[in-house]
Amino acid sequence: MRESISAPFPAIGLSARAEALKPSSTLAVTAKIKTMVAAGVDVIGFGAGEPDFDTPAHIRQAAILAIESGRTRYEPTPGTMEARSAVARYMNRRHGFDVDARNVIISVGGKHALYLAFMALMNDGDELLLPAPYWVTYPAQAQLAGGTVRIIQGRVENGFKITPSELEAAIGPRSRFLVINSPNNPTGTMYSPDELRALAEVVLRHPRLIVFADDIYERLVYGPHPFVSFATIHPELATRTVTFNGLSKSYAMTGWRIGFAVAAPHVIKAMDALQGQMTSNITSFNMPAIVTALEGPQDDVEKMREAFACRGARMYERLCAMPGLACARPEGAFYAFPDISALLGRRDEMGTELRSSSDFATSLLEQARVAVVPGEDFGAPTHIRLSFATSLERINEGLDRMEAWILSLR
Ligand code: PMP
Ligand code: GLU
Repeated sequence: MRESISAPFPAIGLSARAEALKPSSTLAVTAKIKTMVAAGVDVIGFGAGEPDFDTPAHIRQAAILAIESGRTRYEPTPGTMEARSAVARYMNRRHGFDVDARNVIISVGGKHALYLAFMALMNDGDELLLPAPYWVTYPAQAQLAGGTVRIIQGRVENGFKITPSELEAAIGPRSRFLVINSPNNPTGTMYSPDELRALAEVVLRHPRLIVFADDIYERLVYGPHPFVSFATIHPELATRTVTFNGLSKSYAMTGWRIGFAVAAPHVIKAMDALQGQMTSNITSFNMPAIVTALEGPQDDVEKMREAFACRGARMYERLCAMPGLACARPEGAFYAFPDISALLGRRDEMGTELRSSSDFATSLLEQARVAVVPGEDFGAPTHIRLSFATSLERINEGLDRMEAWILSLR
């Protein structure tokens, strides 16, 4: 009989790249909540950055039909012509961005589209200018691609948005990339068209800068500003911007893993070559669902947007009414990002001092069973992120618990 191998396995050294990588804290919190719920713990999750709605039925049907009609083989690596053309038509129709299928690659989520772009364009030592607070994945991906990160600190008084002079002051000899993510994860705020145009003027004065415009929350806008896609502000910017988007947030399709990038054809070709060596095409039977999502009925998207608007308003009102919290009004995406600094230094009922937003989130989860994401990995160590992608009822219940817990701090 064969002897089974018993742990501990002999240690295999990890690459310096893997050693240095910080795992995604947003995914970690989401996984933790799911484990707790599966174990029967009554936790209210404000952690997950994903819609709580089901994917609209007609989109699900498109994929079911595709699998039943035998769409189960390899497909073209950057996506089928139909799917890429549907994305190009969408960019034309919705954003006035005159592109065609050659400008589009479809990837395993917006996340992998971003990674492909970093890998295709960034050289060792190139600098990414990153307005903070930022989504946790940008610095990790830039680092994987050999780059360095220079943070541009957004100020709470300005809705965390950076100004043209702050951008200008940050640009140095190694600066090559700038991320614009509006509506923003984690802050829920967004740039007005005029604010974006003012930033664009600075970018136009620096011909070496490439902009990564992460438009993933573009359909979830409910504040005073209309959405403008950065690449459409000036013809030159169309050639110097890589635009990222996908179906995850707009169509409640996070698990399907469908994202895309829009850029100059030679950039798309390089990303295609990388994708061909990394993942090949996205899941074959998702291709027709892309066309259905983008070109079929859009009423579900509008219903979800209205629900997020209503939930965001409720969460904002309640957070502002809590002692010690200060919050910017959410205008897009589905996040509120209150400042908790007035509560740091207090002690919870167990006597533990809350020294950081991590301590705050841990105690809130353990004692009140409310999950939030601490701000440290978003570059905002005195904030917490609450996602309102959950029902009004759960929002009320979670905020009741959080308020009672805050009142119990000493
Ligand atoms: N950009 C931002 C700002 C996000 O919050 C997310 C959410 N995960 C993504 C990109 C990528 O989403 P996905 O990979 O699901 O398309
Ligand atoms: N983007 C979402 C979030 O910030 C989903 C998790 C992730 O991919 O980071 O929570």
